[in-house]
Amino acid sequence: MDLVLRNCRLLEREGLYDLLITKGRISKIGKDLKADNSYDALGRLLIPGMGDMHVHLDSAMTLGRPRFNQSGTLLEGIEIWGEYKKSLSKDEVKARARRAVEWMVVQGVTMIRTHADVTESRLEGLRGLLELREEMRDLVNIQVTAFPQDGILTDNGNLELLEKAMEMGADNVGMIPHNEMTREDGVKSISLAFDLAQKYGRGVDGHVDETDDEGSRFLEVVASETYKRGMAGRVAAGHVTAMHSYNGAYADRLMRLLKRAGVNVVVNPAVNLHLQGRYDTYPKRRGLARIKELLAGGVNVSLGNDCLMDPWYPLGRGDILQSLYLAVHAAHLTSYGEVVRSLDLVTYNAAKTFGLREYGIMEGAVADLVLLDATHPLEVVRDQPTRLLVMKGGKVVSVGEPEKYRLSSGKEVNFSPSLP
Ligand SMILES: [Zn+2]
Repeated sequence: MDLVLRNCRLLEREGLYDLLITKGRISKIGKDLKADNSYDALGRLLIPGMGDMHVHLDSAMTLGRPRFNQSGTLLEGIEIWGEYKKSLSKDEVKARARRAVEWMVVQGVTMIRTHADVTESRLEGLRGLLELREEMRDLVNIQVTAFPQDGILTDNGNLELLEKAMEMGADNVGMIPHNEMTREDGVKSISLAFDLAQKYGRGVDGHVDETDDEGSRFLEVVASETYKRGMAGRVAAGHVTAMHSYNGAYADRLMRLLKRAGVNVVVNPAVNLHLQGRYDTYPKRRGLARIKELLAGGVNVSLGNDCLMDPWYPLGRGDILQSLYLAVHAAHLTSYGEVVRSLDLVTYNAAKTFGLREYGIMEGAVADLVLLDATHPLEVVRDQPTRLLVMKGGKVVSVGEPEKYRLSSGKEVNFSPSLP
């Protein structure tokens, strides 16, 4: 059924527009459009569906099971997860992950790239997430990355499990070179992951250099493999926190290499602000990839929530705008223009990482859309406003209502500022 979204405010366009949605796509953008059904956006901001490009749904909401992470380190998190994952069952993973996906969908996420730990030999998490990908297809696009949490070469059989995951239908090959036993094994693991990606015609989506060790330099190897194998745009490097600690000359060379190779970088601000710097006294490093410099250098950067209430991170509510809020602070993307443009990180840049074409607010694009209770992009970052309407493929999949506060005098207080 055709639908017109009336009086929408759009990014980078003056005035209000109507969007005609036909057969799941934006068929026309104009004024006074007509259809059987209509929805009045009342001048609120309409943006394309948002993307979370790095989230571990198999561990979501396992906080405290079997115990809490006391040190706040990545490594204690891996130990706790290692204990818990022995007891995983497909249905239990699905129940937790479904809840997390619902949180994300109502907050405007229409693209999710999730990791499934494939060093758990029964592959229960992977089975659960692959089923969920299909069952929730009408609500959200999900890609599942086969993630060898414990390493590809650290145990006999891990490489075979990774390949089995690709046979079962995982969308991307993962890796964790900094968690292999030696630098040499790390380099070899990258090569093996790329081999599998090419064999099965899939993308690469690695955990790379997630450490404060400035000696961890696997991202250059990932860039080199991407370039030499002609895989520009099909490779994502997640976390890359060691980049924070590289010297300026090396970081500059690396960022040029990333641009040349076409590697997508995915940053997880909440979790890495929390996990990194744990071996520092003071000053404590922020431990995030150099978002500002990467963007200036023409590298595609998107964001992820990474963890939701799990052994690595006790907080999180699945809102990618929360991650954006943290990113603009930690990366000093806080000039007026930078805040406004930062919305790209969770929209267009995410779609590029995800490999989604026909995306955006344009005629012909798939109608994955979010109507926000805001009139200006700065409000979106500052306020993380109510997602009034979320559409996936032209269908409304979620509606939200704005929060309301009243002083005891009866005066209503809202958070909308007046902006230029
Ligand atoms: Zn991760």
